[in-house]
Amino acid sequence: MKPGILVINAGSSSIKFAVFRDAAQIEPQLLLKGQMEGLGSDPNFRVKDASGQSVEERDEWPRGSSLDHAGALRYILDWLDECASEVKIGAVGHRVVHGGLSYDRAVQVDEGVIADLERLIPLAPLHQPHNLASIRALAEVAPELPQVACFDTAFHRAQPRVAQLFALPRALLDSGVRRYGFHGLSYEYIARRLPDYMPAGKVVVAHLGSGASLCALQDGRSVESTMGFTAVDGLPMGTRTGALDPGVVLYLLQERGYDARAIEKLLYKESGLLGVSGISNDMRDLLESDDPNAAEAVELFVYHVGKHAAALASALEGLDALVFTAGIGENAAAVRERVCRRLEWLGVRLDPEANRRGGPRISTEASPVSVWVIPTDEERMIALHVRDCLRAA
Ligand code: ADP
Repeated sequence: MKPGILVINAGSSSIKFAVFRDAAQIEPQLLLKGQMEGLGSDPNFRVKDASGQSVEERDEWPRGSSLDHAGALRYILDWLDECASEVKIGAVGHRVVHGGLSYDRAVQVDEGVIADLERLIPLAPLHQPHNLASIRALAEVAPELPQVACFDTAFHRAQPRVAQLFALPRALLDSGVRRYGFHGLSYEYIARRLPDYMPAGKVVVAHLGSGASLCALQDGRSVESTMGFTAVDGLPMGTRTGALDPGVVLYLLQERGYDARAIEKLLYKESGLLGVSGISNDMRDLLESDDPNAAEAVELFVYHVGKHAAALASALEGLDALVFTAGIGENAAAVRERVCRRLEWLGVRLDPEANRRGGPRISTEASPVSVWVIPTDEERMIALHVRDCLRAA
């Protein structure tokens, strides 16, 4: 039996997972990807192999069974034991959204780490509790398995101090009200891949998925990002506002009868592409629609990607390359084309045919700024962290 690493990404009502074969000296090899959705209500379980072929689909559960995180993790481990018998899970890596000020790398979980991460729940109330629930549940279900927490913030901890500050009173800054940045596992993965494509330099990476952000990399290190204290800052996203004048929030609270819960719903669930289009949070639907509101939502998205990319080029004091990744970045040639047109003045020269083919290089040979499409792989990055972390231990 081959040793395996289980990667867990736990949300409020779903657990996504991936299984990698852990082979010495070579990159972890993906074996399976799956998810349990509908936790607490109507569970369904799906697993695919590395080529994307379905290997398991289950929708029927005994009446009255409403799996929680612990039940789902027990089910996933039992299923792997039974149906993926060529691999034996020896360690687990979790995606954890917030590592606060102190965690600048992945860490093996113990009681002290769990206590630290619990203190960060108020900083990421929508994600951190579910990440921790699955860590705690796994410790109960399989106490013999070492667990590693991998943070979305850690990669950005090395940013220059000035990039991490808000113009707020010092006491607030010192208490942790800072710009943390997110999508760090995706950017770290891209940074690892970059030497396969280009020499070290000044790179803006656009992670454009249902959550969207940009990161400025100097020689593979994060120096600036568009997300800040929370994952709602920066670009407009599927359902999130992106950067919003805080005066709007005050106005809604003071004059329009919103309370904190209604504001949270507005900022995270009702805005972005969905709010502006009134149609969908899915870029595919908007690109296919002939509704002017859909067109305006796409225009707003493209405008902000261009505007923030230029701001990040300023943080880098130059730009050698632009990288597109994640669902929209990897698949939506029309969005990439429009973003690149907005950045022509910075030296971006798109090769439209290469862009339609999906790259990897989508700029002309002569383009002063090279432009690339590079698929991200956050699960693989977590598997790599698990391996490195446990070897170091
Ligand atoms: P997340 O992991 O944040 O949920 P993804 O990285 O999977 O998100 O990206 C989801 C987004 O990618 C959705 O807005 C979806 O519309 C978009 N997307 C996926 N495929 C395409 C495509 N072929 N054309 C345009 N957009 C696409």
